[in-house]
Order: sequence, then structure tokens, then C-alpha cells
Amino acid sequence: MYKATKIRLYPNKSQEQKLAQDFGNARKVWNLALDLKQKAYASGELLSCYDIKKMLPAWKSGEYDYLKQTHSQVLQESILHLDRAYKNAFARVKQGKRATSKRTKNNNVFGFPVFKSKYDSRQAISYPQGVTVASSKITLPKIGQIKACVHREIVGKIKTVTISRESTGKYYASILADNFKPISEPLQSFDVAMVIGVDLGVKDWIVDSTNNKLPNPHHLKKSLKKLHKLQKDLSRKIEAAKARCIADGKPMKEQRNYFGSNIAKDKKRVALAHEKVRHARQNYQHQVSNVLANENQVVVAETLNIKEMMANRKLSKAIGDCAWSGFLNQLDYKLKAKGGQLVQISTWFPSTKTCNHCGVINEHITLKHRTWTCRSCQTTVDRDINAALNIRAAGIVKLKAAGLSVYAHGGHVRLDPVDQAAAFEVGSLRVYA
Ligand SMILES: [Zn+2]
Repeated sequence: MYKATKIRLYPNKSQEQKLAQDFGNARKVWNLALDLKQKAYASGELLSCYDIKKMLPAWKSGEYDYLKQTHSQVLQESILHLDRAYKNAFARVKQGKRATSKRTKNNNVFGFPVFKSKYDSRQAISYPQGVTVASSKITLPKIGQIKACVHREIVGKIKTVTISRESTGKYYASILADNFKPISEPLQSFDVAMVIGVDLGVKDWIVDSTNNKLPNPHHLKKSLKKLHKLQKDLSRKIEAAKARCIADGKPMKEQRNYFGSNIAKDKKRVALAHEKVRHARQNYQHQVSNVLANENQVVVAETLNIKEMMANRKLSKAIGDCAWSGFLNQLDYKLKAKGGQLVQISTWFPSTKTCNHCGVINEHITLKHRTWTCRSCQTTVDRDINAALNIRAAGIVKLKAAGLSVYAHGGHVRLDPVDQAAAFEVGSLRVYA
């Protein structure tokens, strides 16, 4: 099984320079290859990854002799990445799926590769082999030993190592290693006690079917005030710089080189503030997903329609802060690693309005009802816990429909009222308005 580990690097000044040169050279090769691909495509030809790799020696001995300073496999990897980026973009075109990356400006909705610039906030190179990791250092070909904080032992064979410089100016190495452990076989039968339903919300971040409520930590909200001030400072300085350009009659492009200026310092401050929020959020999400994945075989959640929710401007900031899709991804791979699974059910399932005791839909429920009493069986339920129980039941129905078995201890699977509530997916329900 492949496992990725990201570690922080602390290069010294001369190593930083060497890395900057390598970032630049890898970028040059990317841009040359992209230019060739685009021209070939315009004249109705297709250039393969192999065709472009063959041109590398000519580039090195000719016009771009500085490319020799960089490890040759780093340059080849750059061409390989471009090829993969094209394949992914074509796959998205085929599926009619828009790209979600930031590189979707100028109607590039499918995220076709674009030219890279030294002003891009993130710079990176990849090594397919030749990198070794020790307890407090990493050794890169042609660069040598770089001080590193290896917080977790790298087990198995290193596949690829990506070195990056982020917008915060910090350096990282992402190490992908194969530990030769087989991936767990997907389970065919599940213990009903290890199936949990979760309702994702804005007020309470997660409510699960075992009566647990986790409050929304609001990582972004807390730091928002600080971020606002930093961003205001930055944009004021950029506006001033632009105004100076116009006054001096200079083209704007020259002014993009802000290195060492106050603008560069401000940009770094903004990036650091964003990073702090991101790390706090990721940390929290990992803790929660670890607990859920360790204690359960199956987690059932609703399919999120993030785009639709984000379109609601009032809710969008709160929802962006909740970052559920990243969290569900974590849950998915953590459960799969041990044979379990994440089951997602339709957004249209009336999880909130269905009574988990008798299965009747109570149409009178609105957002303001935190608890409500079922008009049919008179049970008073907590809105979110009721929803989580219904989501869990719908998940069990879905597992069974997929031919998997869900068993209870004692051998006999009892169809509890919770299962009835989910019966809407199989049959019809009485509606009690
Ligand atoms: Zn009821």
C-alpha cells in the first residue's frame, strides 16, 4: 500500500539557491514541452511524452545549457507531469466534469495545463528515485543533505519525492512510499453495531447516530479578523504600486517582481495566516476521522451538493469553513484501508423530517425546530440525532441492496423501526403533514 508523508525541510542559503535553480529549470522544461504540445496540437499532430523526452539532450547542449545543472530525472519528471495533466484534462472533457483547481482562469474550465511562472505562489520539483531519508535529513541528488524534520518513519520503498516551496516561503518534501502491505480486502459483511450515521451541519459540525455532537470549531471565523486586516494592508500596497507604475509610464509587468519589498512581506503574512487556519482545520478533521474510522466499519453520510450550498451567499462562508468534502475524503480512505467503507446516500432523502421511531414524514418541520414531536407516534426527537439515525438506516438499506450482509450479535438480524424509516428507498411511506 502506498503511503504519503509530508515533512518540513530547512535548506540553508546555498541550498535554497540550488533549489530555486532547479524549480526554474523544471519550469522551463514544462513550458517548452507545453509550447511544443500546443503547436503540434494546432497542426493536428499529437506529441507523446516519449517524443518530448527525446528532445531533452538537444536542449541541454544547445540554447538551454543551464538545464545541465539539474538532475536529469527531475526534468523528465516535469515532462511526465505535463503528460499526466493533459490526460486528466481530456478525461474531464470526456466526462463533462469541470476542473476544481485554481488553474481555471480564462475559460479553461477543464483545467488544461497552463504555462508556469516564477511568480507562481507554489514551486515544486519531483524525483522518481535517488532520494534517501534519514532521521533528521533528506539527501537529494546534485543538492546533497538538507536538514529535515522527519516526524514519522518512512517505511518501505520510496516511490517519488516532491520538493516544494509554498507561498509561506516554507519548504516541504512529500514522500510517497510503498510499504508492500496488501490493501485490506473489502468486507462483505458488517456488524450492525459498527455502522454509524453522521449528519453534517453548520451549527454542530457533526452529529452522529450514537448521540454525539461535535461543535463547529470555526477555525476560519476566529482568524478572519486578522486575515481581513492583513489582506487590506496588502491590497492597499498593491494599488499604490500600480498607481506608481501608471504615473511613471512603466508597464505593470515589471512591477510584478515584489521580492524583498513590503508587498512581498505582506503576501507572506497573508499566506502564513491562511496556513495557520488550514493546519488547525486539517488537524481537527484528522482527529475526528481517525476516531470515526477506528471505531466503525461503515460511516453513512449524505452526499453533499457543495456547489449548490456555496451558491447560497449567506451560508457559503460558514460551509467553506466546515470543509466537509476534504473530511469525507479522509474518512473514505481511512475506512477503505481496513476494509470498511463510506456510504453516501442521496441529498434528497428526507432525513430531517422522517421520524426514526415510526417512519412517518412530518412535513411541518422547519429549520427552527431543534426538537420536535412526531404527530403520529408522539415521540419527541432531537432534530439532528433523528437525522443521523435516519441516515444510518438508509445506509444499511443501501448496503443490503448492494448484496452485502449486515448482522447483529446473536446471529439474528432484527429489522428495527430505524430500518422502516429508510424503507422510503424501497417502498412508499405514509405522509403525516
Ligand atoms: Zn413517529
